[in-house]
Amino acid sequence: MNVRLGEFLRPHNTLSLQAQARAFVTVFSDEELLTALHWARSRKISVLPLGEGSNVVFVGDVNALVLRQATRSIKLLKKSTDRVTLRVAAGENWHELVRWTLQKGYYGLENLAFIPGTVGAAPIQNIGAYGVEFQSILKQVHARQIVDDAPVALDNASCRFSYRNSIFKRELNAQLVITSVDIELSLSPCVNITYPALARFFQEHPRIEPTPDAVYDAVVGIRRSKLPDPSREPNAGSFFKNPLVNAALASTLLHRYPELPSYPQRDGSVKLSAAWMIDNCGWKGVRRDKLGVHPQHALVLVNYGSDSGEHVLALADDIAVSVDRNFGVKLEIEPVVYGAGS
Ligand code: FAD
Ligand code: NAP
Repeated sequence: MNVRLGEFLRPHNTLSLQAQARAFVTVFSDEELLTALHWARSRKISVLPLGEGSNVVFVGDVNALVLRQATRSIKLLKKSTDRVTLRVAAGENWHELVRWTLQKGYYGLENLAFIPGTVGAAPIQNIGAYGVEFQSILKQVHARQIVDDAPVALDNASCRFSYRNSIFKRELNAQLVITSVDIELSLSPCVNITYPALARFFQEHPRIEPTPDAVYDAVVGIRRSKLPDPSREPNAGSFFKNPLVNAALASTLLHRYPELPSYPQRDGSVKLSAAWMIDNCGWKGVRRDKLGVHPQHALVLVNYGSDSGEHVLALADDIAVSVDRNFGVKLEIEPVVYGAGS
């Protein structure tokens, strides 16, 4: 185990923000994880688990042991006539897992292709795309408590998943290092192409049969064409969540702005398109402080050479204020902020 003091974090976050960690370690096994937790505990240093840094904003130096999970393994736990259960280590790359499962004929992850990051981070915000969320395939999350190494297992219900949220972002925030997840996939092809962008793709390509492989290819193709590649245009994906508002506010807004995309939810709330409101406020393509709102994707903030996470949050704040002023809707940011006041 190689603990590095004062590690610079720019290579460890896709927004390419500069910050220094008090200490940094990459762990390749559960034994190394326990050694690292013990190292931090014996020095009274807090621990910040990190995957590939694709959903974090560093606004200052991080007074913690930043612990990068790099454990790799995929184990077959159970196979029946129609389902398979896998245990996947936290350090596996999410997209590689999606590809691997498809090659094996295990179905269910196609819509979640090409999402950056590690498997261990997937439960944190219940990653989702194209009408599918991580919660639909999760059986169990395995973790270690940072405070005393105790192993913890949470079943699906205990994770309290919701839209881009889970118990790991709320009650258990900063308490666990996720070590692996058990996921259950289908052995028979079952595709979900109800999401408008996917439905449109298969309408426009009637000769392509919507097999799991074709859905995977479509998702990867659409994402490649729409989303900026963090290695060329540093970003953290969607910076804002789509707001969920009550039906009364949605109805008032839709009366005034009939073109505002809205999606009624099962619980009676209505999801509104944050991107549409941000665009309507004139932010798409705006550049400021070496930062910008992506010209094709209003939810994505791009770093064109800034070091400062503070400036990123200031831009996000100004965007949120103008959406609130024009629509009476409060936007929440999606990435997790570190380094403030430490
Ligand atoms: P990090 O950014 O390293 O960490 C995120 C949070 O998880 C932090 O709080 C961290 O402490 C915690 N964490 C990470 N690993 C562990 C662990 N092992 N144990 C405990 N806590 C941990 N998200 C979506 O939901 N859908 C999308 O379609 C999507 N598209 C994206 C596109 C782009 C271009 C980018 C840059 C991001 C996108 N994201 C999307 C966001 C991001 O990919 C996901 O949130 C992803 O799960 C983050 O993984 P990571 O390993 O990079 O986590
Ligand atoms: P899009 O297809 O242009 O759709 C725009 C927005 O409308 C999305 O945010 C989506 O919400 C919402 N939406 C569309 N149809 C919906 C439906 N039937 N029910 C509920 N909501 C609906 O979106 P995009 O920006 O290109 O992204 C495509 C997918 O990848 C989306 O699912 C998006 O969430 C995901 N993505 C996420 C990130 C991230 O960092 N979190 C980054 C890029 C893409 P949802 O976001 O809830 O799906």
